[in-house]
Amino acid sequence: MAARFTRRVYIGDTPAEAWHILNVLDQHGIVSELRNETLFGATGEIPVLESLPEVWVSDVNLVAAEALIKEIRRKPDECSVWRCDGCSEVVDGVFAICWRCGASASISG
Ligand SMILES: [Zn+2]
Repeated sequence: MAARFTRRVYIGDTPAEAWHILNVLDQHGIVSELRNETLFGATGEIPVLESLPEVWVSDVNLVAAEALIKEIRRKPDECSVWRCDGCSEVVDGVFAICWRCGASASISG
């Protein structure tokens, strides 16, 4: 099946961040595509704004993807990482959902 990715739902500051979004979307059954990832690091040749990694989805997944990304980024913990209850993975504090197993952060407050 050739899905057409027509909607950009996320622009990451780093490839790792974009990959995190991609992984979480995938865990929720949303097929997405990462663009510009390979351009990252080609500083000096490509303007920064054009080389940021982008996550694209198809029309049918747009609403679900946006809701999910909002959820992922809802609980920023400015200064720390957290450990996932589901798989014990240590996840960066900017993410509210474990990149490995998709569990939500269990940070109190
Ligand atoms: Zn986990």
